[in-house]
Amino acid sequence: MKYVIILPDGASDEPLPQLGGKTPLEAAHIPNMDSIAHDGRLGRIVTIPDGFGAGTDAGTLTLMGYDPRVYHTGRAPMEALAQQLTAEPDQLIFRCNFVNITDGKMKDFTAGHIHQPDADALIAALNAATFFGEQCSFHAGVSYRNLLLVSNASTMKLQSQPPHDITDQPVAGYWPTGDGQERVKAIMDRAVEVLREHPVNLRRREKGEDWATNIWLWGQGTPMKLESLDSRYGLKGVVITAVDIIRGIAVGMGMDLIEVPGATGYIDTDYDAKGRAALDALDRYDVVVVHIEAPDEAAHQGMAEEKMKSLERIDEAIVGPLLKKLKSMGDHRILIAPDHATLVRTKGHHAEPPPFCYAGAGVESRSGKAFSEKEAAAAGVFLDPGHTLLSEFLTPSR
Ligand SMILES: [Zn+2]
Repeated sequence: MKYVIILPDGASDEPLPQLGGKTPLEAAHIPNMDSIAHDGRLGRIVTIPDGFGAGTDAGTLTLMGYDPRVYHTGRAPMEALAQQLTAEPDQLIFRCNFVNITDGKMKDFTAGHIHQPDADALIAALNAATFFGEQCSFHAGVSYRNLLLVSNASTMKLQSQPPHDITDQPVAGYWPTGDGQERVKAIMDRAVEVLREHPVNLRRREKGEDWATNIWLWGQGTPMKLESLDSRYGLKGVVITAVDIIRGIAVGMGMDLIEVPGATGYIDTDYDAKGRAALDALDRYDVVVVHIEAPDEAAHQGMAEEKMKSLERIDEAIVGPLLKKLKSMGDHRILIAPDHATLVRTKGHHAEPPPFCYAGAGVESRSGKAFSEKEAAAAGVFLDPGHTLLSEFLTPSR
């Protein structure tokens, strides 16, 4: 049996005047997704449990069969998994942005999209510094997106603020708060001293670039532990994605990763290359997961037409060829499931339960007409909580 899971990030939406009162899924020409909705099980799924933000982290954990209320420890632990970082149970993992704070305001949460050699040099300087006896281990990621592991910190209970949500705002009200806040603030303050006179920053200041005045710690959590796909289902899986959160979940699940050249995570992603990589992977794996960030990205930019087109490209270059090959391979199932809605109107995520559909061996047709929010609601299937979807999809005998 072969299984394919397509994750069109943020594909769900609401009717839009720019699309003649249709949602992007309704307006798009997506005959392959429609055929899956028609031939199989169509419904809506609660991907974001109460109390969680409508993010790709919680949404995708749910779709991959893990209740976020049990397994979600934070965003940074997922990124640590993506980087294959081994963390100890007593450690707290933080996202550590290089940021520029000027006149007390968050001027730039990327420190001028600091380029890699500069970021690497600053990370090295931080690792060479002392932090009042705290055991701090900084790990370079990409550009401003780094990680910090703090030992003897797993019992801290902190609230923190994503720096991209407070651009141009005074940072004074947004330092981490809660149990352990003094320790974390002391680390952040000490980093200011380490960074201030570093040659990289002196040069950036001289050239008028946004320099890294501060580190901003957020998204913290203890190491995330998932049971593997193999131990749960006895299946070997692979994930194709250009996004770190999804890479982290894949690594946590013991799944392989395929990096596709040209898969950017943006609207210009190479759909054909992703489709070809998925087709190729079908020969070697039981479960092939393809995640496409483009619909989410288009909605974040408020572009209805682009979002619709990205869905059409996914249908044409990825879903269609996979369906065709699956049919030639014998027993199979295919699932289409967005992790959350991303609304073109607000340019933000929304927790409204998105549609899902799957078809294949042993799945009865409910004769849904198309893959859309409205048709999914009309089908009357409502999965709450949503993390049961994957086991229902991967265990046909049930
Ligand atoms: Zn998402």
